[in-house]
Formats: sequence, structure tokens, C-alpha cells
Amino acid sequence: MRQRDGSTRRGRESFSDEPYLNANRISPKKTPDPLMRSKLKRIMRDYQCWRILLEIITYPHPTLRHKSKPIKRVDAELREVVREMFKLMYEAKGVGLAANQVDLPIRLFVANLEADPDKGEEMVFINPVVSMPKGTEENEEGCLSLPGLYGNVVRPKKVRINAYNMQGEEINADVEGLFSRVVQHETDHLDGVLFIDRMTESAKIEVEGELDMFETEFNSRRDTGGIPDNAAIAARLSEWEAKYC
Ligand SMILES: [Zn+2]
Repeated sequence: MRQRDGSTRRGRESFSDEPYLNANRISPKKTPDPLMRSKLKRIMRDYQCWRILLEIITYPHPTLRHKSKPIKRVDAELREVVREMFKLMYEAKGVGLAANQVDLPIRLFVANLEADPDKGEEMVFINPVVSMPKGTEENEEGCLSLPGLYGNVVRPKKVRINAYNMQGEEINADVEGLFSRVVQHETDHLDGVLFIDRMTESAKIEVEGELDMFETEFNSRRDTGGIPDNAAIAARLSEWEAKYC
């Protein structure tokens, strides 16, 4: 999810300093020279970044309509996916990003309400469940999969969010304000629901033309081979589901 923001602040890369290191391969820990050790760490970190290349997909990519299945295991590759998702979210100045926005069919989203790696808290929600809605509130939303498009959405003001973090610990929180809006917007993504589906009727009419433009752009990218056909996309999603769900 993205909030409208006049600032020109750019996000920076948000990798942690601990790269995934397979014990069976070369390891900086086994390298005695400190300079070489730090160089090796950097190379291996960059190698890992290069290994998983993700990008934010835009409307009307079919994966945005995919209902994600719960995650059954977390491994080094998934931790790398999460690091990459934070990086993409900050680059796009977002406050939340769901896995199917990076073309992955797994039930997970990341968030940082400050949209800044140097501020706020980086949160990962695995298998989130939103419940106990209370009150209603209308506010403007944006989405990293519909860049530049904003509109008002009415949502419950307060909700309870249950999920797991990357360490497998339970998250149980009653949230309101921006936090509540973000967890609802991102959990919607995992069910294949977009904020344009929940826009007020007047907001929907206002964005009709912009949605047509997104569709035209998507079809033209697909015609020129920039986006795989639906069968290829579905086959890839099935592979990921077989691995993690
Ligand atoms: Zn979104």
C-alpha cells in the first residue's frame, strides 16, 4: 500500500548485514583474513541479491487475482524473498507489499508504516488473519501495483490481526489508524482483492480512465513478450505452492 506523499525522499537498499550462508559452501566465517572476510561477505550478499530477482507487478496482472495459500515452511530462500520485498517497497515509497505483488502465490506481506528503512519497524506477517472489525472510516489509499492511482476506501476502523513472524512467533494485535488500513489492504491482496474493488462508487467512476490505461499498457507489454501468458504464470505459481504451501 502507498500513501500519497509529496516528499521526494528515495528509499535505500535495506539488506541486513547477515547474508544467507550455506554451511556446505565457502563461508566468510572460515576465512582468517578480516579484509578478505568482509569482501567475501559483500560478494556473497550481492550474489544472493542477484539470485532472487523480483519486481512489483502491476494491474491487471493475473497473479494479483490469485488467492494465496498458507505458508507451511520458512527457509533461506524465503528470507531472501522478504529482504528483496522490503527493498522494492522502499524504492517505491510504499508502507506495505504483499507477496502476490511480486508474483508469488504465498500468504505473506511486509510492512513499515514509515516507508523508510531508517525509521519505523520492519514487520513481516505470515498467514495473516484479520478479524473483529469495529467502526468504519473512509480514507484515501494507493497501491504499488497501481502506481499513481489513488481513491477513497471505506474500511473498518479497528481490526485484530493474527499472523506469524519470520521466527515463527505469533502476532496478535488490535490495530487502528494507518496500521489497521495497511493490514486490511495487504491481507486483501493475498485473497486476490484490490483496493479498487472496495472504492466508493464516486471514486470508482473517477479512476475508470486510469484503469483503462493500465489495461492497455499491460496488453501491449504482453503482446511484445514482456509478460508470460496465463498458462506459464499459473505453472510458475504452482511450483511455488508445491514448495511452500
Ligand atoms: Zn496494494
